[in-house]
Amino acid sequence: MKIKVIGSGSMWTAYNSASYLIDDNILVDMPNGMCKNLFRLGLNPREIDHVLLTHFHGDHYFDMPFYFLLKSKSNDKNVNVYCSKEGKKKTQKLLKLAFPNTVKSVNEAINLKYILASSFKVNDYLVKKWLVDHGSMKPAFGYIFEKENIKVGFTGDTILCQNVEYMASICNYLFCDCMFVKSTTKHMGIDSLKYLTEKYSNCKFVVSHLEDSTREELNKIKLENVIVPEDGLEINI
Ligand SMILES: [Zn+2]
Ligand SMILES: [Zn+2]
Repeated sequence: MKIKVIGSGSMWTAYNSASYLIDDNILVDMPNGMCKNLFRLGLNPREIDHVLLTHFHGDHYFDMPFYFLLKSKSNDKNVNVYCSKEGKKKTQKLLKLAFPNTVKSVNEAINLKYILASSFKVNDYLVKKWLVDHGSMKPAFGYIFEKENIKVGFTGDTILCQNVEYMASICNYLFCDCMFVKSTTKHMGIDSLKYLTEKYSNCKFVVSHLEDSTREELNKIKLENVIVPEDGLEINI
């Protein structure tokens, strides 16, 4: 499994927003600016056939219209969107706002499927969706990818909750929210991360959605089993 951290920062930093590319073909989240972020890293958003969305804050899905439009002009027109049930309405509304006169032709051109199930196959992976706690944004999900006994989790935006602990307890790698130095009612912070690393020492934690002050602190304290990625970091698992 090849995972590229496309974005490791929060919206309010010069880093790209939290998002990941798996095996050049699967994306976890599609923040505003995503298509450009991929092109800048020398990657091609046309090759992406699967997009898993964690929740519907703009910094996790606002580039969907540009991706749909690009796919409509590409040879490979397969688009599979995995999300909660509001996803179809939200992404279609956004497409209409972005390109009011071409919604119909874009939707006719692409082979678009919305997958709302809580577990599904993506390429060779068995993927399960886990409810997390992102304050008033409900629902918000994390995902666990499994293949040949290797499990890789993505928490999405969340506080420390039972399902995040479960993910940490079974995953080899967990890509997790660590936005702030101190946890809030919406995001995990370094205190939650420390708790997880001490309790689940078999898991490697790759932090994301970082504020600059959090990145600085994490680079200073150097926690065991924690990777503080730069945008574009590739991890082979
Ligand atoms: Zn959010
Ligand atoms: Zn976010």
